[in-house]
Amino acid sequence: MPTATAVRAECAPRTAPLRRLAVVLGDQLDAESAIFDGFDPDADAVWMAEVSDEASHVPSTLPRIVMFLAAMRHFRDALRARGLRVYYRELTLDGAGSIGQALAEDLETLRPAQVVTVEAGEWRLREALRATCRAADLPLSELADRHFISTAEEFSAWAATRKEWRLEYFYRHLRRRTGVLMDGDTPCGGQWNFDKENRRGFPAAGPGLLPPPVAFPPDALTRDVCDAVARLFPGRRGDLSRFDWPVTVEDAQRALADFIAHRLPLFGHFQDAMWHGEPWLYHSRLAAALNLKLLRPAVVVAAAERAFRTGHAPLAAVEGFIRQILGWREYVRGVYWQSMPDYAGQNVLQANEPLPDFFWTGDTDRACLRDAIGQTLDLGYAHHIQRLMVTGLYALLLGVRPREIHAWYLAVYVDAVEWVELPNVLGMSQFADGGRLASKPYIASGRYIDRMSNYCGRCRYSPEQAHGPKACPFTTLYWDFLERHADRFWGHPRLGQQVRNLQRMSPDTRDAIRAQAAMLRAPASAS
Ligand code: FAD
Ligand code: SF4
Repeated sequence: MPTATAVRAECAPRTAPLRRLAVVLGDQLDAESAIFDGFDPDADAVWMAEVSDEASHVPSTLPRIVMFLAAMRHFRDALRARGLRVYYRELTLDGAGSIGQALAEDLETLRPAQVVTVEAGEWRLREALRATCRAADLPLSELADRHFISTAEEFSAWAATRKEWRLEYFYRHLRRRTGVLMDGDTPCGGQWNFDKENRRGFPAAGPGLLPPPVAFPPDALTRDVCDAVARLFPGRRGDLSRFDWPVTVEDAQRALADFIAHRLPLFGHFQDAMWHGEPWLYHSRLAAALNLKLLRPAVVVAAAERAFRTGHAPLAAVEGFIRQILGWREYVRGVYWQSMPDYAGQNVLQANEPLPDFFWTGDTDRACLRDAIGQTLDLGYAHHIQRLMVTGLYALLLGVRPREIHAWYLAVYVDAVEWVELPNVLGMSQFADGGRLASKPYIASGRYIDRMSNYCGRCRYSPEQAHGPKACPFTTLYWDFLERHADRFWGHPRLGQQVRNLQRMSPDTRDAIRAQAAMLRAPASAS
């Protein structure tokens, strides 16, 4: 871990005073953003900075750091090619560590009449920018982020009319408002949701020949970033020889076209399936490009809808995909801004266990966790069900402190940005918000993983067994979770039955499960 990073300000001498300094953060690489409205290259300038805090406030893996820095440097060069003046600080070994510190230093040199930015995607950075401009006694203008389909205000107005928030109803609201997958007032196909058709596992022989996603081998600029990041962050995990993410607008558009042409038609069926050694399956790999704003969600949704309307992809697959973007992505952003800053501290299940060390190494004898964590650390990617029903589920059942598992998710994925990561981790996967985001905790035993993957066949444990030497840790911890939280979930419409199944077990069995779960929590058996 670098002790400090320094930065080089490329502050060319100017003759005329600077009218507006446009601050562009690492996840705001949107060439059509409001910040460029009325931009005058003679009077205005863009400011961007690579600072060590963004890679180290959680110990980010190498692919995540490279993803951000490579995309930022390509964006900088694209702006300069358009004739815009860009002040850009590259990460080196001495200098300002935080965005606030770096900006404060450059505001002193540049003295713009005004600082302008698109509203930050993260609470922490929004506060830092506000505090810095206040301290410099400069006006800060925060513009709406046009990247999204919805706004925090729209979510807030919708939430005010609801007793409880649920994705399904916000999604329907947005479908109606945008007309996406609608035939007049009716949802295409006569129903809003085709989830039931989207839960297949692969046959025993496996997924067969998968369409490999288009790869983006690093160009010279990205290779320089890889070298610099490997040098500056020794000891961080990640296999940069396999880095192939799209880091420009053009590549992001190619990645979208490739997904629509080759994987969208089967996305729905196999959305929840997992297979050893196959990280991508039928997933889009678009989250990082979307979150860095290289791609607009409306463009992605329109491309998917076109595939349905032209008969290229079935409705169930297209609806399943659109629900992730028009539904979940917009919904979690609404939940984030409606609930911060208190949201990050929630822990209603009073989970207080430390995160097992193997989350940072992948060195575990549980085959499902070894595969999901291994690819996560190497590539910066795992698909949704691996995140929710393998790593997230294990942390939930074990009772890991939500802040610790949140820091892990924020550090390891190329697409990790707090506004989307935190509600998914804290709300959806850990139920630490007590049901604000989702109606129930996503819990299951090892049998679910067995049904949706080939992991268990490669594992020393048996998903059927809840106690004994071959007992699957997920299965043990699943029953133990119900035992520990029986009072909370006894009367729950969807979990009550599971609690009653537990209560039908013999006292000896329940004792054995409790003892085995305690062993799993003991530090010595943490691998
Ligand atoms: P696909 O499976 O192809 O899905 C298409 C797109 O839909 C994604 O690119 C993404 O933009 C969007 N999407 C899908 N599910 C969600 C969701 N639940 N919330 C918001 N958007 C969604 N997504 C992130 O973008 N960043 C994160 O840091 C992140 N952390 C997560 C942590 C946990 C514990 C869980 C359960 C989910 C998390 N997700 C996160 C959501 C989802 O898992 C990823 O967006 C997805 O796996 C990215 O891979 P993909 O691009 O191939 O997505
Ligand atoms: Fe994972 Fe349990 Fe299956 Fe092993 S048996 S792969 S630990 S679910």
